[in-house]
Amino acid sequence: MKIPFEGGCACGAVRYTVSAAPIMGGHCQCTSCQKASGTGHSSHVMLPESAVTVRGTVRYWESPADSGNLIGRGFCPSCGTPLFSRNAGMPGFFFIRPASFDDPSQFSPAMVVYASRGHAWDKLDAALPHFAVMPPTPPGGAG
Ligand SMILES: [Zn+2]
Ligand SMILES: [Zn+2]
Repeated sequence: MKIPFEGGCACGAVRYTVSAAPIMGGHCQCTSCQKASGTGHSSHVMLPESAVTVRGTVRYWESPADSGNLIGRGFCPSCGTPLFSRNAGMPGFFFIRPASFDDPSQFSPAMVVYASRGHAWDKLDAALPHFAVMPPTPPGGAG
């Protein structure tokens, strides 16, 4: 994909620039990601934290994941767009929701995690590897 690239929330109060290629990306069907998206899954792109510059105010809501690690989910306090995740167990990494990219077609999901929690009405690309819970390196920092 084209580097650097930009993105932001629906109302434009939060904008970001990414100066490195994503490490990986995928869909997560864990219960937290369902709640955070309001539907069957959230999609995440994993990046080095140092490659992301955020402008504007982001609010983080923190809760423990299955792993016990604290997950911080960042959203725009004005429009509520879910944008980012941080995982206390994965310092140095940062996760972005790819629909917030200015060009979301650049997202290339590599896997589905927490597929065991997925709903029958949320079928994802069967060609992607599906993991019942988390593979060794999580794409969402979530779970
Ligand atoms: Zn906003
Ligand atoms: Zn998840």
